[in-house]
Amino acid sequence: MHPATSDKPTCRFCGSAELHETIGPVLRSGALCSVFFCDQCSIGMTWPQPDAATLVRLYAPGEYRADRGKRFIAPIEFLFELHKKWLIWRINSSMKSGRMLDVGCGSGFLASLFAGAGWDVTGVERDDDTAIHARETYRIAVVTDIDHARGPFDLIMVNHVLEHLDDPLRMLEKCRELLAPGGRLIIAVPNFSSLQAKVGGAGWFHLDMPFHLYHFSEQGLVGLLHKAGFSVVESSHADWIQNIYGWLQSLLNRAGISYNALYDLLRMRGRGISASAWSSLLCCLWAVPLALLGICVERVCRTGGVIRCTAVVADRDSKVQL
Ligand SMILES: [Zn+2]
Repeated sequence: MHPATSDKPTCRFCGSAELHETIGPVLRSGALCSVFFCDQCSIGMTWPQPDAATLVRLYAPGEYRADRGKRFIAPIEFLFELHKKWLIWRINSSMKSGRMLDVGCGSGFLASLFAGAGWDVTGVERDDDTAIHARETYRIAVVTDIDHARGPFDLIMVNHVLEHLDDPLRMLEKCRELLAPGGRLIIAVPNFSSLQAKVGGAGWFHLDMPFHLYHFSEQGLVGLLHKAGFSVVESSHADWIQNIYGWLQSLLNRAGISYNALYDLLRMRGRGISASAWSSLLCCLWAVPLALLGICVERVCRTGGVIRCTAVVADRDSKVQL
C-alpha cells in the first residue's frame, strides 16, 4: 500500500483536498486502510490505494475467485444463477437483442446466458486465467482490456465492477464511446449511502476494502455518469441477494464475530474456520430476522445496499423511452 496512512488524499474526480475520513483506519486483507469521502462528488475513496504489488497479491489465483471462476458453495452459486436469469429476463422484456458487452465478465456465466438469449456477446476480463476459462467453457469472445473491444454495442453491463477500478471515470467514458445510438449502459455498485452501510460502519459487508477502491452514493454515481456523458433514465436499489446478504454479514461483523466468517464459509473455505467460529455463527441466528427487518425498512426508505442504474448517452439518446 502507498503512501503512508497519515497522508491525506485529494479527490480523484474533482481535485478537492477537503476529504474527510468517514471510516477507519481498519486492517483488511493485510492492509490498513480508510475511506475518505468527498462531499462535492459524494464519492468515497479507499486510502491508501493498493499499489501494483498489493493488487497482484489480492487477486492471486484462488484468493479473490476460487475454482476457476466459481466463488461460492453450490447452493449460493445456484441463487446467483437464478438472479442473473431474472436480470436477463427483465432486460429482454424491454429491448431487442443485439450486441452486448459484459465488462468484468468473470467466469463468463452471465455472458453465456445473454448469448443463449440471442445476444452477440463480448466479455471483458482482465484476469488471463479467468478469461481463458470463460472462452473455453462458454465459447464466448473475451478480451482482457476494454480497449480491445470492437463496438458499437447495444447493451453494456458493468455489474459490480466500477468500484474495483483504478480509474472508473475513464471506464465510463470508454463505455460511452462503445455504445451504439439508442444503446443502454446498465451499471450496479454497492450503495455507500444505504441504511445497511450506515448500520454496518467499518463492518459493512459491501465496503470490501481494499478490493473496492471507490464507494459510491447514488448521487455520486449519477454525477460520475453525467461527467462521462451519460443521462440516467432509471435507477433501482432492488437486489435481493446482495441486499439480504449485505445485512446478514454486516450484522454479524458488528456483533464481533470473526470478520466475514460466514462469507468465508460460503466461499468453500469452511475447513479454515475454527470450531469456535462455527459455534459463534450458530449462536447468531438472531441476525436472520434482523436482516429481514433491515430489508423491509430499506425498501420503504428506498435506501438499499445496491444502486443499479440504466443510462444512455446524454443529448444523443436522452429521449429513449424504457
Ligand atoms: Zn470530489
